[in-house]
Amino acid sequence: MGSICPFDVQFANEIAALLKTPASHIAQEYFDNLIEKRKCRGLQVKVDGVYANDAFDEGELVFKDQMLLGSQHSGNKMDCVVCSFCFRFIGSIEFQIGRRLYLQGLGVFAKCHSDSSDAEGDCSVMDNSALGECFTSGSMGKTPLPKEIIESLMDGRLVLPYSERFSLPSVFPCAGGCEEAFYCSKSCAETDWGTCHSLLCLGEKSKASSPSALYEFIEHANDTNDIFILAAKAISYTILRYKNLKEAYLERGDKVCNGSTAAVSLLLEAWKPISMGQKRRWWDCIALPEDVNKCDEAAFRRQIKDVAYELLKAAIFDEECALCILCLMHHATSPSPFRDDLVVASPVEDYFLYIDDLLESQKQDAEAVTRPILDALGEDYSICCQGTAFFPLQSCMNHSCCPTAKAFKREEV
Ligand SMILES: [Zn+2]
Ligand SMILES: [Zn+2]
Repeated sequence: MGSICPFDVQFANEIAALLKTPASHIAQEYFDNLIEKRKCRGLQVKVDGVYANDAFDEGELVFKDQMLLGSQHSGNKMDCVVCSFCFRFIGSIEFQIGRRLYLQGLGVFAKCHSDSSDAEGDCSVMDNSALGECFTSGSMGKTPLPKEIIESLMDGRLVLPYSERFSLPSVFPCAGGCEEAFYCSKSCAETDWGTCHSLLCLGEKSKASSPSALYEFIEHANDTNDIFILAAKAISYTILRYKNLKEAYLERGDKVCNGSTAAVSLLLEAWKPISMGQKRRWWDCIALPEDVNKCDEAAFRRQIKDVAYELLKAAIFDEECALCILCLMHHATSPSPFRDDLVVASPVEDYFLYIDDLLESQKQDAEAVTRPILDALGEDYSICCQGTAFFPLQSCMNHSCCPTAKAFKREEV
């Protein structure tokens, strides 16, 4: 698949403008605004990182960051059902457990190489016999539950003792009709649709220009590295933001022509929250699969870049945002902030810990019900939601092997 595109020549100047490192005064203004919005005390973002200019007490909350974009690892979707926008666990403790056991019983597991340890064909869903060394959780040591019990956990007929103390938001389906995205609320569903999911939805109301190409792109991401999904979200986010900015611009009575200075400045504005991250070529951020020889690394990275670019271009290409696609996919830049891990602790773990801490008399009754369930889940009962996300402020923090601050997710939206 070639990587030369006629737009490269046609829009060379615009592309250069978009790929330029933002001027330091613009970056400073952006981060000063962000610090103010986040109501951070004693912090300052400079070119080379976040600085504290005040003392913090031990245990004090330094700042709360708002995720800009995030994506749950494909393999983790089998273990945890979370809101596709804010990543809260949804449904109920019973639903989380029942769905997990149901998939476990079917022998259905996502590929465990979200960090691309395998490059074989379509095996995003496979049975136990095909899992091989990928199958790390194992069914050994697990005692299966009867199918009826699993079904009654999933449909709410079986209520576990004390589970009301761990109530979770109801499941909202995607308005586009896909069965891939679920939400904790109407507002999360609408916000995600408006900010990026409408172009990446596989449902009947999808705004993708080619749903079949989009499907192929998602398959490719699941088979190689799911960071492509997050990169696609960044592109979709920028396209939709550009369209909103343009609409507001036109409402003010101005004219925007494709390729005009105004269009480029709107695109720059739309792309700003992502461009502020320290950039690294996205195909350079991906871990090299074990079966790819070190000397073939450059060819491997070129290939995944080209394949992903072609597939996504076919899926959501928008003539008006051609520059956007080109800049984000073809030339460079998935911002390295994508390295930030997204981790949300499991309420299922909290639930079983709670049962374990009950007074002996209550515990006996509760465990009569919960023990077989815990045995069926095995050691993996506490798997948390895992993914990758872009946190604008957190992404500016320097890494320390001996950190004085830690990142965590609180149980709130
Ligand atoms: Zn949510
Ligand atoms: Zn959808």
